[in-house]
Amino acid sequence: MPTKELPERSEIVIIGGGIIGVTLAHELAKRGEEVTVIEKRFVGSGSTFRCGTGIRQQFNDEANVQVMKRSVELWKHYSEEYGFSFEQTGYLFLLYDDDEVEEFKRNIAIQNRFGVPTRLITPEEAKEIVPLLDISEVIAASWNPTDGKVDPFYSTAAFALNAERFGAKLVEYTEVKDFIIENGEIKGLKTNRGVIKTGIVVNATNAWAKLINAMAGIKTPIPIEPYKHQAVITQPIRKGAIKPMVISFKYGHAYLTQTSHGGVVGGVGYELGPTYDLNPTYEFMREVSYYFTRIIPALRELLILRTWAGYYAKTPDSNPAIGKIEELNDYYIAAGFSGHGFMMAPAVAEMVADLITKGRTSLPVEWYDPYRFERGELRGQALQMG
Ligand SMILES: Cc1cc2nc3c(=O)[nH]c(=O)nc-3n(C[C@H](O)[C@H](O)[C@H](O)COP(=O)(O)OP(=O)(O)OC[C@H]3O[C@@H](n4cnc5c(N)ncnc54)[C@H](O)[C@@H]3O)c2cc1C
Repeated sequence: MPTKELPERSEIVIIGGGIIGVTLAHELAKRGEEVTVIEKRFVGSGSTFRCGTGIRQQFNDEANVQVMKRSVELWKHYSEEYGFSFEQTGYLFLLYDDDEVEEFKRNIAIQNRFGVPTRLITPEEAKEIVPLLDISEVIAASWNPTDGKVDPFYSTAAFALNAERFGAKLVEYTEVKDFIIENGEIKGLKTNRGVIKTGIVVNATNAWAKLINAMAGIKTPIPIEPYKHQAVITQPIRKGAIKPMVISFKYGHAYLTQTSHGGVVGGVGYELGPTYDLNPTYEFMREVSYYFTRIIPALRELLILRTWAGYYAKTPDSNPAIGKIEELNDYYIAAGFSGHGFMMAPAVAEMVADLITKGRTSLPVEWYDPYRFERGELRGQALQMG
């Protein structure tokens, strides 16, 4: 059921009501802009409600560290203002050999330079943080106590409600089907529920971004492909047993933590695609069970309640494409988050709102330049989990 009438016109239209579209609508509306989000299903129904809740600043390049530092400030601010939970329970990367330790020392130096307080700690210190860990093969760990986790449901709802409070319109069950373009200028969008007139469009559809770019007639190559990534949740265990997000690249690129309900949630690097299929697979169950129990042997005793799948919208360097597409007047993209878009959303909203309202931003948005693919200037591979 359509929840709201499609407005006849809107200054700015955001296609996609995931965390990116909703936080951007919130930011623009707060700045007094007239903005409408068009979402083909319901808000959060894409990757957003399928994600692993993790928020981290432990990246391996200056841009992502700076952007995530700002994002964490904003998560903290809005979680307090709007009353959803942001637990700063840290991210713990388990390291098993000298090469890994050297790589993380380099990453930590970059993070420290921008005020992110990551430290290299001993296996024993790691075990103090998560007593259930098997540290027999661990030689060190990278630990940042200011990383954390946010509930995707409450936070997305909070941004959506407050975007509406500032005057944004969120139109659900409405699918964008085509662009109306005259002389290289956007005049409106055709949807399955009629036409909306607009001059400024933001493509915030992540896994579907290439379809929207094709509708807009964009020729610039912006390679974003949907990959199936799966997650698991176990029966609840004692609260506080696994506080941080625990990562092990050695054991299947696994990430795991405990939800506020007590279940253990996480995934591994097992990737299928490119595909729009979302059926969970038996192979994933087997891999995740094998790797999780290598990291925390006590998990052997636990029942798996459910597995599910969602999309990583991946680019060749695992960094999103964020910016203005010059070949079509007032067309922007913020998509291709490669498995870490939830955590970036508040800072991305700030960057894109700055670009639309001021034409520039103080955050290092150039790193995510949508034209880097065409120019053959791929960034260093962003540190991707799962
Ligand atoms: C298993 C898993 C674990 C993850 N873990 C983490 C994590 O721990 N931390 C983290 O930061 N990220 C994580 N991610 C990634 C995160 O989920 C995404 O990066 C993030 O949700 C992307 O948000 P988005 O708004 O760009 O996309 P989406 O939430 O996918 O929103 C895009 C929206 O566009 C809509 N849409 C598409 N086409 C149209 C159209 N034609 N018309 C109208 N609407 C349209 C879709 O319905 C969808 O709702 C994980 C992902 C998965 C799958």
